[in-house]
Amino acid sequence: MAHGKFATVINCMDGRTQLPVETWMMRTFGVDYVDTVTEPGPNGILAKGDQRHTEIIKEMVEISVKKHGSHCVVIVGHYDCAGNPGPKEMQVDHVKKAMEVVRSWGLDVHLHGVYVDEFWMVHPIE
Ligand SMILES: [Zn+2]
Repeated sequence: MAHGKFATVINCMDGRTQLPVETWMMRTFGVDYVDTVTEPGPNGILAKGDQRHTEIIKEMVEISVKKHGSHCVVIVGHYDCAGNPGPKEMQVDHVKKAMEVVRSWGLDVHLHGVYVDEFWMVHPIE
């Protein structure tokens, strides 16, 4: 098992979302490292059931969980997403649906959803 405490994020490939989410996760969950799985608009990919990309995301998350011992997976939706364009309401809805998909994988993890706003502030989704 790797040293240090890991968590996992399924984030957009958008460079603007990386540091805010990683920093928020380190503070919120007290982890040393954040394994980062990126796709363009991954909340949309998972919510819409894109099989090919979903399988790739799953493989990466499983490596983080099984090899790094991550117990925490965060799914991100954000403002001005080029890969999954749409308003906040849609982003939040897609994060919730994506959480259901990840939950169905049966991993021993706590799942969290967040929305990153136009000021690149991170907001937990209920
Ligand atoms: Zn995006």
